[in-house]
Amino acid sequence: MVPATIITGFLGSGKTTLINQLIKKPKMDKIALIINEFGEIGLDNLLIESSIENTLVLENGCICCSIRGDLVDTIINLFAKAENNEIPYFNRIVIETTGLAIPGPIVATITDDIVVSKKCELNNVITLVDAPQGIRQIKQHKEAKVQISQSNLCIITKCDLASESEIKLLEETLDEINPISNYKHIKNGEIDPDYLFQNLQLDRLIEIDEHHHSHHKHHHLDQDRSLLEHDNVRSCSFLINEDVDESRLRSWLAMLYSLRPFSMLRLKGIIKLNTFEMPILLQAVGTTFYDPTLIEKWPSEDKLSRLIIIFKDISEKSMRDSFSKYVLEQ
Ligand SMILES: [Zn+2]
Repeated sequence: MVPATIITGFLGSGKTTLINQLIKKPKMDKIALIINEFGEIGLDNLLIESSIENTLVLENGCICCSIRGDLVDTIINLFAKAENNEIPYFNRIVIETTGLAIPGPIVATITDDIVVSKKCELNNVITLVDAPQGIRQIKQHKEAKVQISQSNLCIITKCDLASESEIKLLEETLDEINPISNYKHIKNGEIDPDYLFQNLQLDRLIEIDEHHHSHHKHHHLDQDRSLLEHDNVRSCSFLINEDVDESRLRSWLAMLYSLRPFSMLRLKGIIKLNTFEMPILLQAVGTTFYDPTLIEKWPSEDKLSRLIIIFKDISEKSMRDSFSKYVLEQ
């Protein structure tokens, strides 16, 4: 399986700069790069000073909505050409999205396609957030919020152009939107590829507590509550002290995802089911569930199941009540 990494981020967040830096690194000469640009300045592909032979540009639409099929064809073509020795073989696919793209449908495109899902598997959804502009973009554009909510790694770019307090406020806002993503500050697009492509499955899940994560740390955010006041993106975390009934959990998720598919942004959990000895890792981006995997060793000493859901247009109370009623209460 070839890992595929999605790099997204709002307009001007520094995706091209990051990719330019990335492809100069020694280990990066074997990647295939798919760049989607549409309705943007349109020169991205010229700006990628590519030494990489396998660089493809999709410019007739956006891969999260209008040209999802083109993305599938492009990936299938890449594999076909590599197998016929028309292009060098690649060990990773990096997909740079448009600034307005939402990761969920792209994840679904990769995971749902029979051919593509057999050849490549999703690694990280990386969202770039501009340090000086990020807060404003989050306030004004729902796409920016969704990009953050569906990431498992957020890179805060242009940190040399923002003050420490601006960065701190931004970080707290990101943490409020997505408490399970990992955050990293960078300057001039400079980043270690090993960090970008690492396996980030479990670490932050362990930090989850029963109520909202670390509210007490959010001094800055409390002073600027207006930031998220009208925000309809919320998260809910559960700490579960008992085996979870597999069929009840399945029915609840099926109900939730069929009734409110567009509200479901991200889900991640380590869950001890009644049907297995060890916990499973359960993950979804948008409405796409990854195959659950058994975890061989409890990542936390308390051995409690943890589930976090990021959603919009549903109240936290309804989510909590529904989980208690349909999953927990017997
Ligand atoms: Zn789109």
